[in-house]
Amino acid sequence: MAPRVRFAPSPTGYLHVGGARTALFNWLYARRHGGTFVLRIEDTDVQRSSADMVTGILEGMRWLGLDWDEGPDVGGARGPYFQSERLDRYREAAARLVREGHAYYCYCSAERLRSEREKAEQEGAAWQYDRTCLALTPDRVAALEAAGAPRAIRFKVPSTRTAFVDAVHGPIEFDSARLEDFVLLRSDGYPTYHLSVVVDDAEMEISHVIRGDDHISNTPKHVLLFQALGAPTPVFAHVPLILGADKKRLSKRHGATSVSEYRRQGYLPEAMVNFLALLGWSPGDDRELMSMDELAGAFSLEGISRGNAVFNTDKLDWMNGQYIVRLATDSLAAAVAPFFQEAGLQVRISDPWFHRLLDLLRPRAKRLTDFVDLARPFLSDTVEYEAEAIEKHLGSAGLGAHVDALATSLRSIDPFDEPHVEAAVRGTAAERGIKAGMLIHATRVAVTGRTASPGLFEVLALLGRERTVARLERLVNFLATGPRADFS
Ligand code: GLU
Repeated sequence: MAPRVRFAPSPTGYLHVGGARTALFNWLYARRHGGTFVLRIEDTDVQRSSADMVTGILEGMRWLGLDWDEGPDVGGARGPYFQSERLDRYREAAARLVREGHAYYCYCSAERLRSEREKAEQEGAAWQYDRTCLALTPDRVAALEAAGAPRAIRFKVPSTRTAFVDAVHGPIEFDSARLEDFVLLRSDGYPTYHLSVVVDDAEMEISHVIRGDDHISNTPKHVLLFQALGAPTPVFAHVPLILGADKKRLSKRHGATSVSEYRRQGYLPEAMVNFLALLGWSPGDDRELMSMDELAGAFSLEGISRGNAVFNTDKLDWMNGQYIVRLATDSLAAAVAPFFQEAGLQVRISDPWFHRLLDLLRPRAKRLTDFVDLARPFLSDTVEYEAEAIEKHLGSAGLGAHVDALATSLRSIDPFDEPHVEAAVRGTAAERGIKAGMLIHATRVAVTGRTASPGLFEVLALLGRERTVARLERLVNFLATGPRADFS
């Protein structure tokens, strides 16, 4: 049978890279086995959930290319896919569990339970619900009901040892005596996470639950609930946590943790997906750059590691650079355009000149945002000389005359292309008995204001004769009059 997997985010926050990685593993598993990827929104916490967060999560998933087969916007036969629209099902399931003896009503007040817990903790003891309400006499129950006492529903944890086989961690055994009779339905009629997640996984016929390691401790409860509901227990695969470079759990202290933030910082979705896939999973060989299709073709639960994964931003940057180098130029133009627009720089994304510029710059870009900075000298009318560039490359005696000679030579070459520009620069240097490097460095400062740029001859060819010569003339003038604050 084709697997059915799900990603079940709670919309109480943005799409975290950890959540995105969980979603990706589920997506890859479904795609690998021709299964179904369900997206379910776990929004039973009305106070903390918001529609904006849902929108953000869906946007993040779409950006990453993680399309879902059933869920919000696309629908499906096992909907609704928002837990807030499924409350009746949880209430019915809880009532059924009571009827069948797997659960019972609990009238204990939150205050009493809290004070008992605090007392036990002060005495250094672990506290577990003492089953007061399991032992109520029918008369007492009738009295409480007549008085309209609020009641929750608790699961009656059976006194067995139960085991399950985690697809990542192997066999896990637990002693039910250490599990308290946990609440399924609160007295306000809202389900706890344990109830809603299991009812939905059962009704949606989820075959594999692939989720974060932080849910391992919940799984015994879930296994018992599946059994009590008479539903098949899915395969569980708990994926390792993502840690920062300091081996602490990834948090904002380490930098961006939301997928949308990485998008804003200029990462390509293909690179992000590839990077996230390798956080705690490996194809079993030394492949690193893998397309979405290759990942889906290679993905297996066996390839998930037990150890925690470290989020290495340098690796992400490297990977993003690799994807930038490989991207088709028109796709790259479309991808960088919003960043130029945001910086107030006009570009035409189908302009062949802009494509040449991107091709020239891309080996130096790690993020899409880098293009804006690298392209500035090509797109603006003025160039500012950086202090470091002035100091390093504009100090030689007689430099103005050399640069002037180069400007003269460049005025007459035809065509104004890379080989002719190079010949003009080298020829001028030879004629004037100076090293070509000196002229190259000074020219780079003239046209970009900087000490580093892509190959100078390509830069000049792309800038064109008019702008190159004008910038050289400005440098000649600058060198003659000395640095002034308003030289641009
Ligand atoms: N809504 C839960 C969470 O975001 C889902 C956990 C699960 O996958 O079972 O943690």
